[in-house]
Amino acid sequence: MIPVAKPYLPSREKVDSYIDSIYHTHWLTNNGPLVQKLTQRLADHLGLDANCLVLVANGSLALHLAYKALELKGDVLTTPFSFIATASTLKWEGLNPVFVDIDKDTWNIDPNPMEQSITPDTSAIVPVHVFGNPCDVEAIQLIADKHNLKTVYDASHCFGATLNGESVLKQGDASTISFHATKLFHTVEGGAVITKTKELADKIRTKINFGIDGPDSIGMLGTNAKMSEFHAAVGLAVLDDIERIQTQRQDIWEQYAEALAPKYQLQKRHPAANNNYAYFPILLKDEQVVIDVVAKLAESGVQARRYFYPSLNSLVMFEDGCEASVSSDIASRIVCLPIWPELQSAEVKEVYKLVVGVVGS
Ligand SMILES: *Cc1c(COP(=O)(O)O)cnc(C)c1O
Repeated sequence: MIPVAKPYLPSREKVDSYIDSIYHTHWLTNNGPLVQKLTQRLADHLGLDANCLVLVANGSLALHLAYKALELKGDVLTTPFSFIATASTLKWEGLNPVFVDIDKDTWNIDPNPMEQSITPDTSAIVPVHVFGNPCDVEAIQLIADKHNLKTVYDASHCFGATLNGESVLKQGDASTISFHATKLFHTVEGGAVITKTKELADKIRTKINFGIDGPDSIGMLGTNAKMSEFHAAVGLAVLDDIERIQTQRQDIWEQYAEALAPKYQLQKRHPAANNNYAYFPILLKDEQVVIDVVAKLAESGVQARRYFYPSLNSLVMFEDGCEASVSSDIASRIVCLPIWPELQSAEVKEVYKLVVGVVGS
């Protein structure tokens, strides 16, 4: 069986060495030494200011906290082509997701039709850098400034992704990332909020600990979104191996690309961005071909996933959702192929041969 994603597990010895320190300090959670160490090491690795980086329990809570801390209200423009958490967290916060269609080539939210959806009730834009491909952040920022809107980027796929040589996590009033087990870098469950200002990060640090801001003081509404020391221990051990993880992913990505491009349509990447090789999505001719490819791979024990299907504007919980014909079309035609560090060249070859067998070359 070849899964679409296989969580990376660092060596037991390495994880144990970090966990030994927890047994020494008995500090299990509440911004312990390992969470502090991971915060600093991630900031150094990604070129971020540690004061503006807050580790949290998962990527969905990172979104909740960003929306809450920025005091979003009313309507929020977002993309229908994403993982459900981008929009469900908005709804859960009592906000109204307004879907703006995507660009047919980059698969990111399209800034062109965006202004038509802005009303006096709009408070923010929540774009997603889909598959680690940065959005047109300049166009989005111009619109946000013109209409006095906040921007929160769901950068869940963006570990190591850069724009003009800088981490794409620096974009917007806040960016969020997921460190779920299947993501490029993980802490089993985990995530982070990266803020433009230290003030906003401090507010989020208080909110993840129930709003407690002093020994006998609860100064604001909060929740429990803290990362534990055990999760940070796994994160530190994964981070120790991150260069090898990235090289292996790149190698697999390039093998697929060589075999499948240019006959197959791949995502159009932002010209000033790198590639973090987080996913390998291909766009096929129509939905039937996708169904055939997924079935053929499954017969051979290979899992391919239809990320992100269905287009979020079509879901029942967003029943007043908007038309998004490009997203509905793209979502019906994309399939992501297996990519994870230890996938062997022979397996990569088996996968793309099966795809070519169905689709043709
Ligand atoms: C994974 C993911 C999330 C959710 O992150 P969790 O850590 O699983 O809660 C949110 N948005 C996108 C785009 C994702 O891919």
